[in-house]
Amino acid sequence: MNYSGFRVFWEGLTGNAGWKPAWRDPDPRAEYDIVIVGGGGHGLATAYYLAKEFGQRNIAVVEKGWIGSGNVGRNTTIVRSNYLLPGNEPFYEFSLKLWEGLEQDFNFNAMVSQRGIVNLYHSDAQRDAFARRGNAMRLAGADAVLLDQDGIRELCPFLDFDNARFPIRGGLWQPRGGTVRHDAVAWGYARGADKNGVDILQNCEVTGFQIDNGVCKGVETSRGKIRAKKVAVCVAGSSSRVMERAGMRLPIESHVLQAFVTEGLKPIIPGVITFGAGHFYVSQSDKGGLVFGGDIDGYNTYAQRGNLPVVEDVCEGGMAIMPMIGRARVLRMWGGVVDMSMDGSPFIDKTAIEGLYFNGGWCYGGFKATPASGYCYAHLIARGEPHPVAVDYRLDRFRHGAMIDEKGAGAQPNLH
Ligand SMILES: Cc1cc2nc3c(=O)[nH]c(=O)nc-3n(C[C@H](O)[C@H](O)[C@H](O)COP(=O)(O)OP(=O)(O)OC[C@H]3O[C@@H](n4cnc5c(N)ncnc54)[C@H](O)[C@@H]3O)c2cc1C
Repeated sequence: MNYSGFRVFWEGLTGNAGWKPAWRDPDPRAEYDIVIVGGGGHGLATAYYLAKEFGQRNIAVVEKGWIGSGNVGRNTTIVRSNYLLPGNEPFYEFSLKLWEGLEQDFNFNAMVSQRGIVNLYHSDAQRDAFARRGNAMRLAGADAVLLDQDGIRELCPFLDFDNARFPIRGGLWQPRGGTVRHDAVAWGYARGADKNGVDILQNCEVTGFQIDNGVCKGVETSRGKIRAKKVAVCVAGSSSRVMERAGMRLPIESHVLQAFVTEGLKPIIPGVITFGAGHFYVSQSDKGGLVFGGDIDGYNTYAQRGNLPVVEDVCEGGMAIMPMIGRARVLRMWGGVVDMSMDGSPFIDKTAIEGLYFNGGWCYGGFKATPASGYCYAHLIARGEPHPVAVDYRLDRFRHGAMIDEKGAGAQPNLH
């Protein structure tokens, strides 16, 4: 079914009785060419691009829960491409460009809102580091503007510029960054994949892999065995547990990341603001709630709930840059399990087991990567070669000392 303004108008007049489910609910078939494990943003995007851009047919996405139940529906919706290193920046810029055309591409309103993102700096040394990052971004074709204190005052007059410990001196501004409605992304990709013939199998948990003489020949699931020529795993926070079933140990730890939403307020936050001296970032949803978060919890877990010390830490960060947030009432908070690699950068690679592919290690930065991750993973699966912007996301990079130690943004595993 295609969506259009006319269709919305017509359905409104006729009792909204003509809408059909956005994707089918098929039974698993005995065999597919490609089985994608994990129906999060990355898995659904991979299926969508495999079918639409790489001409692959006979694909299934196998999801243990329901579409959007993982981190794709739990994140704080920020998209940006403000990275530093050559292994990362072109990939994230590619992703931002895909975000810019995504809604037209899959004909679904994902509320892509490029209101900008500003990273605040609080010292001269931090300003120099941000200037360097802004230059790296521009060299990769992204947009970056280094603002001084007056520039930030104009953008966000409500900030506490004269905080005694963390005075705000300026910020690195990426006008094309912003937010996207996270679950609409999952729905849009699911609908687009289904339209291109992909079977989306919900409530179907992968419990094992059929591996014969070093070749992966399918998966075992809670709904029976499924044979496949290629199996592509992208299960985010469950990466270590799922790949363990294939006998692989990954350079990944799982941590909880929490998010918070306040009551609806009048528009105040212009885009996304991040604190440069602690872990706090905030944006405002279209309904008016302040959406904010901070650091991951400092221990390994697969439980999707967080702990009070991080709540306190995040609130302290918020109070340091915008004390008015102390008057807003928090309505909801939740946690998601994120898969943190040991250099804070992801993997999109083949494994040593023929026919088995792995995509993970996104930590708290994988939502913005969804389109590029799906596209590059589809490229690797269909063509057998990595996409040019994802060549460094190799599983063996620690063995070869080729880490992508992104300090510009992302996780810093040594802190946890
Ligand atoms: C609170 C929070 C805030 C965040 N904020 C941001 C942000 O602002 N910007 C940003 O870029 N990133 C953010 N992230 C990170 C981002 O959400 C993740 O990196 C990204 O969503 C991970 O990819 P995914 O969407 O495919 O994961 P998921 O949606 O988690 O998909 C993985 C799927 O695999 C399924 N699965 C697991 N095991 C199995 C199995 N055995 N069989 C079948 N299926 C299985 C799960 O049920 C799940 O649906 C945030 C994360 C959290 C938790």
